[in-house]
Amino acid sequence: MRRPFVAGNWKMNLTLASARQLVAALRQQLPADPPVDVAVCPPYPYLLAVADALDGSFIKLGAQNVYFADNRAIPGEVSTQMLLDVCCTYAIIGHSERRHTIGQGEDDQMLNRKSKSALVAGLVAIFCIGEKLEQRDSGQTETVLEQQLRTGLVGIDADGLGRMVIAYEPVWAIGTGRNATPQQAQDAHSFIRNLLGRLYSPDFAATIRIQYGGSVKADNAAELMAQPDVDGALVGGASLKVEQFVPIIEATIRAKQLA
Ligand code: PEP
Repeated sequence: MRRPFVAGNWKMNLTLASARQLVAALRQQLPADPPVDVAVCPPYPYLLAVADALDGSFIKLGAQNVYFADNRAIPGEVSTQMLLDVCCTYAIIGHSERRHTIGQGEDDQMLNRKSKSALVAGLVAIFCIGEKLEQRDSGQTETVLEQQLRTGLVGIDADGLGRMVIAYEPVWAIGTGRNATPQQAQDAHSFIRNLLGRLYSPDFAATIRIQYGGSVKADNAAELMAQPDVDGALVGGASLKVEQFVPIIEATIRAKQLA
């Protein structure tokens, strides 16, 4: 049985004060020990303050990115050790906005290095993959997912994969308000799990958590989370509002019949 996992990716949003308020509201509204893993991923400058605000809570802390080397002259980057120092459990790697939107983007090889560094350090890597709209429209979804996953997992053994979460995030669904249909999500997740089965073993692939991300909201979470290969959500915009994020977590618990 895979334990569902819902994570909020705050991206470059909120203020220090509103981040603290959001965490306080989440702590107040969520049960103390729900049957689901939950994490929030604030911007780097707020990590330590959010770590303090989460102290004693079941909610874990994640970073939105990480660099693959320590102690280098690379301005603006943050190492795995720094993330561990501020109590991060997770690091998101390969988010589509980092792959495709910022500068030249991050390629599969760089993302593979990041994942390996995160795993060596003891972080859980949330590794994002997903196709662009034109790739889906031209029937390349599975080719793209396979390429991103195969390259992203080079040199990562079963022990490493066991400390990763895969996030399927179709690029056309992120921040657009247009989510994948439950069947589209299930088809992609099933493809990913089968591929992991070929790369590792089917039994082991059955234990790996695959989140769906892309315009998950309180009103569509139930049907997405009800899909058998969907093990939770990576949530952007809706994770900034307690009245959206809490119902997504509750819908996940109900969909997986854990309540
Ligand atoms: C994301 O940031 O990973 C994401 C899925 O964003 P949104 O939920 O806003 O589409």
